[in-house]
Amino acid sequence: MRIAVIGAGAAGLMAAAVAAQRLAAIPGSSGDAPRQVIVFEKNRKAGVKILMSGGTRCNLTHDCGPAGIMEAFGKGGQFLRQALAALPPSQVVALFHSLGVPTQIEVTGKIFPSSNRALDVRDALLGYAERSGAEVRLATPVRGIVPGAGGEGIVVSTDEAQEKFDAVIVTVGGKSWPGCGTTGDGYGWLRGLGHTLVPPRPALVPLVGGEAWMNGLSGLTLDDVTASVWAVPGEGMKRPKKPSLSRRGGFLFTHFGFSGPTAMDVSGVMTSAERFDQCRLSLDFAPDVTPDQLTRWFEEQRRESGARRVAAAVTRWLPKRLAESVAEVTGSDQRTMAELPRAQTVAMVEAIKNLTLPVTGTRGFDKAEVTAGGVSLKEVDPRTMRSRLVPRLYIAGEILDLDGWIGGYNFQSAFSTGFLAGTHAADQVREAACLT
Ligand SMILES: Cc1cc2nc3c(=O)[nH]c(=O)nc-3n(C[C@H](O)[C@H](O)[C@H](O)COP(=O)(O)OP(=O)(O)OC[C@H]3O[C@@H](n4cnc5c(N)ncnc54)[C@H](O)[C@@H]3O)c2cc1C
Repeated sequence: MRIAVIGAGAAGLMAAAVAAQRLAAIPGSSGDAPRQVIVFEKNRKAGVKILMSGGTRCNLTHDCGPAGIMEAFGKGGQFLRQALAALPPSQVVALFHSLGVPTQIEVTGKIFPSSNRALDVRDALLGYAERSGAEVRLATPVRGIVPGAGGEGIVVSTDEAQEKFDAVIVTVGGKSWPGCGTTGDGYGWLRGLGHTLVPPRPALVPLVGGEAWMNGLSGLTLDDVTASVWAVPGEGMKRPKKPSLSRRGGFLFTHFGFSGPTAMDVSGVMTSAERFDQCRLSLDFAPDVTPDQLTRWFEEQRRESGARRVAAAVTRWLPKRLAESVAEVTGSDQRTMAELPRAQTVAMVEAIKNLTLPVTGTRGFDKAEVTAGGVSLKEVDPRTMRSRLVPRLYIAGEILDLDGWIGGYNFQSAFSTGFLAGTHAADQVREAACLT
């Protein structure tokens, strides 16, 4: 009874731990039959992405129920229902507590280890897999997987050997941050086995763009804005009533464009368009007031603080640097509030509530925290993570066509899908052994 797990990341280590535990706990048909879970990892260290995650603090999950996690994955969220039922965020937290990693919840709902050390999360997960009986082979890149002769098992090829396994769990991640070992190796293998690939694209990635007047804003951080992506209607089509996605939180102007959690959260929707000019990124700097309320505020200010310069007055809504730039670009910088013509008030309200930020690209896979696209969810059974096309093949984690927001959602997905894959791979192997 042998199971291979390919990739010692969040999904792979979880899958290996659970599979090894289950194989150890279940009586086999022959007491002497070896029960092995082998984890192949190309890096010299396991869990490299865990180590670098969350600014080396590892935001391991989010303080919400399964529904909150599903929401963060958009259309893919439904696929996670059974995986999250099997291992919800509360149980991820409980598991890490039991492994000696207490956690803390931030006001945003992000959950980190109390130590703020990603290393503790990685060590706990690796230790869990190894103590459960999994063997982790580091610096052992897998080169390919093919079905065994006569449809028996799956053969895993490395530079040293070809080994046959009763089941294989592919958890090699996507192709973002390739320096971590995630170079999209699994896509070719799975396509070769008949799986469909939704074209991988960068997500949770900083956006490239901006206009000349924004150059001076580089480095400016805003704590509370709403970033929205709007579909740009084609000729003769109606303007959408709602944005494709809105996210509220932090935002950062950079020398190349835009970053920070909200810009990164909406980036996946932007990269899903064929061209960047098919969608529009807008920022709302005053999410708690409506445009009408803001217009009334301008009228009040005109009456009550007419002598005040426009740029100074709008620091009520915008940081000073941005207030000055916006006043300048709307042609209001030389004016006092009393001198502000109605047309410029409209332009100021628009700039505060619905500023369009031109986006021309992204920083690419090199700087993307996750990969959107991947193995089509239609071809994987969400109850087990088993391939619907290849017997005894399981697929979990980021290699699937799943990408969630910033906030611990992606690790939660990797843990839950890895958990399900490990559980069912072990059960399938056990059942097959009992039948022989
Ligand atoms: C900078 C950064 C920060 C992040 N911070 C967070 C965060 O705080 N919270 C959060 O939820 N998510 C975060 N993420 C996203 C998160 O890291 C991933 O979604 C998650 O690691 C996916 O887990 P996985 O197990 O599917 O894949 P991975 O963790 O990517 O693991 C895949 C493993 O497979 C190995 N591998 C690849 N090819 C082969 C091969 N041919 N043979 C053998 N092994 C192979 C890789 O070396 C890697 O170790 C962050 C990502 C980045 C890049």
